[in-house]
Amino acid sequence: MTNLSLNLSESAAMYPDHPAIRLDDDVLRYNDLDDAASRVVTLLREYGVQPGDRVGLMLPNVPEFAIVFYGVLRAGGIAVPMNPLLKRREVEYYLDDSGARVLFGWHEIAAEAEAGAKAAGTDLVTVAPQEFRALVGTREPATDPASRDGEDTAVILYTSGTTGRPKGAELTHAGLNTNQAVSARTLFKIGPDDVVMGCLPLFHVFGLTCGLNTAIANGATLTMIPRFSPAKALEVIQRDKVTVFEGVPTMYSAMLGLPDRDKYDVSTLRTCVSGGAALPVEVLRGFEEAFGAIILEGYGLSETSPVASFNHPDAVRKPGSIGTPIEGVRMRVVDEAHNPVQAGEIGEIQIGGHNVMKSYWNKPADTTAAVDAEGWLSTGDLARQDEDGYFFIVDRKKDLLIRGGYNVYPREVEEVLYEHPAVAEAAVVGIPHPSLGEEIGAAIALKDGETATPEELREFVKSRIAAYKYPRAVWIVDGLPKGPTGKIQRRDVVVPEGVLS
Ligand code: AMP
Repeated sequence: MTNLSLNLSESAAMYPDHPAIRLDDDVLRYNDLDDAASRVVTLLREYGVQPGDRVGLMLPNVPEFAIVFYGVLRAGGIAVPMNPLLKRREVEYYLDDSGARVLFGWHEIAAEAEAGAKAAGTDLVTVAPQEFRALVGTREPATDPASRDGEDTAVILYTSGTTGRPKGAELTHAGLNTNQAVSARTLFKIGPDDVVMGCLPLFHVFGLTCGLNTAIANGATLTMIPRFSPAKALEVIQRDKVTVFEGVPTMYSAMLGLPDRDKYDVSTLRTCVSGGAALPVEVLRGFEEAFGAIILEGYGLSETSPVASFNHPDAVRKPGSIGTPIEGVRMRVVDEAHNPVQAGEIGEIQIGGHNVMKSYWNKPADTTAAVDAEGWLSTGDLARQDEDGYFFIVDRKKDLLIRGGYNVYPREVEEVLYEHPAVAEAAVVGIPHPSLGEEIGAAIALKDGETATPEELREFVKSRIAAYKYPRAVWIVDGLPKGPTGKIQRRDVVVPEGVLS
């Protein structure tokens, strides 16, 4: 039996009184979490949930997420994590598409959850902390967890992939378990003395596997922040003596850019992990210098459970690189015909191994388009490999800009912008242009208290890269559009009228 929820049972047997989850003053010990999850199994069975049934979790980073998640797995169900910010039509789509039997919806967004669940014909359990724990407390703990095979689906994670409406990536018990185990052993080296920061959303694969599963499987404590802010994160690192921080690059740049960052004691930080988007080299260097902790950059996708490659703590770290594949994972760079290219050449990354999703839920054509007969997943990410086998992401295939026939990779231009001391965040985007096809534009958010004019920033880049690459239009914004994990969304950047003239 390979049920992922055994991780919790085993840790609870070894460390019953050790804190498993913390949200400010609310501390859930391992035996509390284990007991509550078993009672959720009974509750789910009352709703008719059978092994293989889908159950939606529309919850923020709160202890109840962990209680429901492990309860669903223990009942043999398939967890369908959903962003609590979804609106009713989106909720209906996720529930309909996954065929969810029950939805656990957070009380603060009850109206959207209720309307979506009603439209989809899904039962709703509204989750408010006190009431939910009282409800669960009246159930008997189930003592017969459902048996699951490694190849059974544990989680369906919705991801937009490269095209179309969100698709559900089916991640297996064995895939998720191996991914967290390898990550825990070789990257984070995590154990019961560790306190892991849980500021990445748990409905996203990065927070779910590298945060929750990894902490719980190793008897560590996951300390949660439902909504990231750099000041709150630094305060919690100091308060809870956080040892492992996991985040997306914008979190690192936000902490680095905080004017009073030096007042926090973050000396307990041992390892920081960045993934989900390219970590600008200047942010990496600046953060390590300011906070005295190293950042290991890794790479992965929802479809790969998620970790595929990493800069390993015991190997040479190459800034700007996503490192080398983790144990059990194959990665290669291929051309348009999917033939491997030579070292140094740019092509698309393909990934194979235990971590690759089983399929997109109920979408056989999308699955065949994404994963070939040999198990290689095409990622849509362009990269090159150096002579030592390290991968360097160039950019996403679909974000490539073509200006007057020349390829411009936004990331390369952004890296230069980050070298400017006033720049906090940068997004380089294409602006439609009558003769060139696309012109290069850059939206910039400045660090608090810093100033720089668009002309100055444009000249800064112009003097550092080839003439066809520098942004002709630069504009300053208060903040850049971000996705649910905090990744900058270039496609949502609004180009101001007349910015090119
Ligand atoms: P998601 O499925 O939401 O986790 O998004 C996966 C995508 O994030 C990948 O296909 C990459 O485009 C991007 N990504 C993840 N990690 C990195 C990284 N270290 N550098 C650049 N892009 C990354």
